Parts: sequence; C-alpha cells; structure tokens
Amino acid sequence: MQADRYLVIDFEATCCDTGSVPREHMEIIEIGAVMVDARSFEIEDEFQIFVRPVRHPKLTTFCIALTSISQRDVELAPSFKDAVAEFKHWLYRYTGFVFCSWGDYDLKQLRQDCDFHKVPYPISAPHVNVKRVLTEKQGLAKKPGLGDAIRLAGLTFSGTHHRGIDDARNITRLLPYAFGVARIAP
Ligand code: AMP
Ligand code: MG
Ligand code: MG
Repeated sequence: MQADRYLVIDFEATCCDTGSVPREHMEIIEIGAVMVDARSFEIEDEFQIFVRPVRHPKLTTFCIALTSISQRDVELAPSFKDAVAEFKHWLYRYTGFVFCSWGDYDLKQLRQDCDFHKVPYPISAPHVNVKRVLTEKQGLAKKPGLGDAIRLAGLTFSGTHHRGIDDARNITRLLPYAFGVARIAP
C-alpha cells in the first residue's frame, strides 16, 4: 500500500446488549482519528470529538460501561453534521493518506451515519482494513480483536479500550506489524 500517511479512525457508537439499539440504528458518538507518517509510523496529529446521537439519544448503561462515554459527554456534543464539519476542517490539511481502521465496521458506520443525516461522505481516500492486512502479513490463524492484537505484539493497551481516540492510538501502534517489518513472535 503506497501512502505518505495513514489516517487511523476509530468510532464509538450507540449500542446495547439487549436488541434495543439495532445495528442499523447505531450512531457515532465519538470520532477518534490519528494522522500517522507512513515512513516513521510516528503520530503527526490527532483529532477527537464526541457526537450527539438522535435516534437513541439516551445512552444505555451497557454503552456507558463499554465506552466510558457519559450521557453528559454526548449531550454537550455537536450534531453529526457539525462534528463532520469540524473533522473535515482538521482532515483537509493533509494529503496522501489512506483511511485505516481495525475491521470494516468503521467504514460501514460512517456510511450509515452520512446516509441517515444526508451529509456527504467526507473521506476521499481508499479504505484499508488493518486487521485483515496484519492477519495476512503475520500469518495468524484467525483475525484478532484489537486488545488481543496488542497483546500478541507484546504491547500493553494504552488508555481506555473502546474509547475512539485511545483505540485509534493503539491501532497506530500496530501499523508496523501490518505495513512495516515488525514481526509477531510465532
Ligand atoms: P470498538 O471500536 O471496539 O470500541 O467498537 C465500536 C463500537 O461497536 C462501540 O462503540 C459499540 O457501539 C459497538 N460495540 C463494540 N463492542 C460491542 C459489544 N460487545 N456489544 C455491543 N456493541 C459493541
Ligand atoms: Mg473500533
Ligand atoms: Mg473503539
């Protein structure tokens, strides 16, 4: 994958453990994004914003426990449309990047929210599933979750798992294993 930069994104979204928030009604509540230099794998810049959901405006207890995002965080947050406008303001300073996420979920969730809110899809760069690339490159038997991949690489998760910005930072630490020469010990 030829790129000057990796744009690593991780979204958190409304969710439940009971079926009360169906997959097609989930909405982004946090955008975590990191811009990474493709040669050095060093972080150049970061962006984080909470987003106020409208379909299920009250977060479930499950969602608050999973993400550590509070009801107040989302109530004080901008709408999806305004959050995307801020994100674009940050993103459009950069060129030559590919859009990376851990799995295809984030790409699908962004498309879903853009469709629902009638907001133009904001990222022109191609999408790369880092989980798939890392799994193939390292010859793993099955695709690991982000927490397991961090452990397999001999690292310790930094920050809070299931917070968008922390997940994006931890995905960034795995980029040398997907696109560089770093090896996971067999
Ligand atoms: P993650 O990036 O792994 O934190 O997951 C992104 C979003 O997927 C979360 O904010 C939730 O909306 C949803 N999600 C992740 N794990 C679960 C789970 N175990 N049960 C329900 N939803 C989940
Ligand atoms: Mg994620
Ligand atoms: Mg996450």
